Amino acid sequence: MKLSEKRVVFNEGICKSCGLCVHICPTNVIFLADYLNGNGYRPAAVVDQGNCISCGKCSQVCPDSVISVFRPVKILQTV
Ligand code: SF4
Ligand code: SF4
Repeated sequence: MKLSEKRVVFNEGICKSCGLCVHICPTNVIFLADYLNGNGYRPAAVVDQGNCISCGKCSQVCPDSVISVFRPVKILQTV
């Protein structure tokens, strides 16, 4: 999957593994990875980008501004 196709991007190096984003996600697509980041925390990640609805709740709740959410847009052509 290319970066432009992702709806949620985590700056995993600064995640502190608090789990708030995991609990608030309405589609349960966020999990904590089974490896550690450079600070010794299990970083959050999205397991299924296709089921993310770009609601932005994970980004709003994250205390460390780890998460960026993108919304797909339709490009209208004018003639
Ligand atoms: S934007 Fe919404 S649906 Fe997508 S991962 Fe975040 S909380 Fe879940
Ligand atoms: S809310 Fe932020 S700091 Fe907490 S687990 Fe999610 S991404 Fe990491």
